Amino acid sequence: MPSQPAVIEVALPRPLRRTFDYALGQHALVPSPGTRVRVPFGRSHVVGMVVDVLDSSPHELKTIEHIIDEEPILSPDLVDLARWLAGYYHHPIGDVLKTVMPVKARQGAKAEPVDEVVWRLAADTTNADTALARAPTQRASFDRLHQLGPTADAELAALGISRQSLLALLAKELVERTTVAPPYEVRASAIEPTPEQAAAIGAILGSLGDAATHVVEGVTGSGKTEVYLRVIAEVLRSGRQALVLVPEIALTPQTTARFRERFGATATLHSGMTDSQRYDAWLKCRNGSHKVLIGTRSAVLAPFADLGVIIVDEEHDGSFKQTEGLRYSARDVAVKRGQMLSIPVVLGSATPSMETLENVRRGRYRHLRLTQRVAGRSMPGYRVSDIRGERLDGGISAHLHRAIGAHLDAGNQVLAFINRRGYAPVLLCSDCGWQAECDHCDVKLTYHRLPRQLRCHHCDRRRPIPRKCPSCGASDFVLVGTGTQRTEETLRTRHPGVPLYRIDRDTTRSTRRLEADLAAVAEGKPAILVGTQMLAKGHHLPNVTLVAVLDADGGFLSPDFRAPERAAQLIVQVAGRAGRGDRPGEVWIQTFDPDNANLRALIESGYSGFVESERLRRESAVMPPFVSLAIVRAESSSETAALELLRRAADTLTGEGLELLGPAPAPIARRADRYRSQLLLLARRRRDLHLALNRLEQADPRAGGVRWSIDVDPLDTA
Ligand code: ADP
Ligand code: ZN
Ligand code: ZN
Repeated sequence: MPSQPAVIEVALPRPLRRTFDYALGQHALVPSPGTRVRVPFGRSHVVGMVVDVLDSSPHELKTIEHIIDEEPILSPDLVDLARWLAGYYHHPIGDVLKTVMPVKARQGAKAEPVDEVVWRLAADTTNADTALARAPTQRASFDRLHQLGPTADAELAALGISRQSLLALLAKELVERTTVAPPYEVRASAIEPTPEQAAAIGAILGSLGDAATHVVEGVTGSGKTEVYLRVIAEVLRSGRQALVLVPEIALTPQTTARFRERFGATATLHSGMTDSQRYDAWLKCRNGSHKVLIGTRSAVLAPFADLGVIIVDEEHDGSFKQTEGLRYSARDVAVKRGQMLSIPVVLGSATPSMETLENVRRGRYRHLRLTQRVAGRSMPGYRVSDIRGERLDGGISAHLHRAIGAHLDAGNQVLAFINRRGYAPVLLCSDCGWQAECDHCDVKLTYHRLPRQLRCHHCDRRRPIPRKCPSCGASDFVLVGTGTQRTEETLRTRHPGVPLYRIDRDTTRSTRRLEADLAAVAEGKPAILVGTQMLAKGHHLPNVTLVAVLDADGGFLSPDFRAPERAAQLIVQVAGRAGRGDRPGEVWIQTFDPDNANLRALIESGYSGFVESERLRRESAVMPPFVSLAIVRAESSSETAALELLRRAADTLTGEGLELLGPAPAPIARRADRYRSQLLLLARRRRDLHLALNRLEQADPRAGGVRWSIDVDPLDTA
């Protein structure tokens, strides 16, 4: 027995930058860190997390009411990770734990996994052909299930199988529900790795059990996924688990299906799951019954019984960074977790981020390159199309229209990429020049057809199209610029016999629709795809031979210092959809600025050429990755209050080795009636940045109605 009663340090799910001490009371066992406890707080009772056990406390103590877990629900490594997250991202520990724990765990639900519903084909499916002759979606779900084998209910969405159609199949007695979980197994692969793939696989396997970070930089179609699959197979054979982080599961059911086919069963964790499904998947990773977890950003915080490798696919993707609450980068947390667990981390991409490549240059990460496409396929050729003075129709020059026609006539597929949804980005009065703007944000409204309305892409408010100009009363409007809907309209009119699929946030509300569209495209007949960056996400479209980037300039001209990097990555990724099959591909880049240095570097020397010139620019502009950056943001309904608070914050952030930019209104100062200001903090040495942010946390400036936040390693500065 301890001579003094133990003091339990508890983090509470509140946005408070401190923990609270409680007395153990008459509880016989001292709860370890990572155990959930119910404690009194103010006039309520909350579920908190034990983070430490102390000998004494300077405070007067209330007593723990109830110890929820017999065994800690969070292992010591996750408690350590939570503490590291709170320190590195300067975020309240209670709120960090809120992010780490699934909703159900926070509510105090028992830490016991349940048997899940599993779908499989019925024993007798002889009448399938007749029963499904006129139900194509059911047919697709049936075939998918046939190909994949028994599939847990929670995995359906990630694999692009519609639950609704399974229910219909159930009624027709073609499928059945059980609770027999599909078995994990490592299935042999018929693929013979190329020498480059073999070298990458060997290097990663050679570091199992070490905290090594590998960067697999492989051109699109070079077989990166095959490298991951072989590494995971080896990790599973040694009895350990694997974690795969992907940008957006719903957009890439093909990828998830490939893991499923190789390993018999995989688990997923993503935002489309119910709270119960998420908690169950979380618990089964924790107790080791799930071997392979494929998840989006938050999966990097999942518990594991014995994790052996972490893979971050498309590591450059912006979705790995959380932009509210705990503003963590799942990629960076993956690297940290790998170090804490002494396991290798693999960062894969055709277009690695500037940060990652700088870590390679400094020898912190190992560089594994796949420079060739598999099966002797060639990389598509680029062709810069100067559109100054050209008449564009649907955002497309006459020249490019002819090329599109030729590719379609040859029986091929065409992809037109324009990173703007809606019909036209500006509605303008041709008499006085008035432009439609959002009443609540400092942005123009986008003109949409189907339904016909003006929409704000920042606050999502909608307005009818005005009949008369609110400024001069005239009724002649012009639509300036092009979005996906306009390009769709033009291409449909010009190629009435060719199916066209538009893929953007407006059409892709449901995974099923995207999956159905991609399945139709996969059939290989001539087709046109028009879409935004959603089209750049790793889809395998073997019959696309022409990729047209309709507006290459937009990205390069934005004020954000990362804009050129993002633009280059998008162009390379979307170009990578071309020529993935037997026929070679070509990529057209339309630009008003053919001499743009970034664009030239990209076209002439590829992504590495672009990175080389961009690196020099970042270095001379003293921007990341050459300095550490944090942004302090504030917002309020008053125009001045947020700015005023940041002025006070700035006083705590000055010092040797630090540079402040601002405070100043954000580039889009007003969004949904909130005024936003920001302060950039730059430091040559990361330590100085953290010390300054500690001072800010201590000072904890406050002003009525102002919310402020710290964003370490922000992605967006505009
Ligand atoms: P990436 O992820 O680099 O774009 P993928 O891993 O998707 O490339 O591979 C593209 C295609 O090539 C896939 O259909 C894959 O099955 C196939 N593939 C991968 N490696 C090989 C190989 N060594 N030999 C033949 N085909 C391969
Ligand atoms: Zn007018
Ligand atoms: Zn708005």
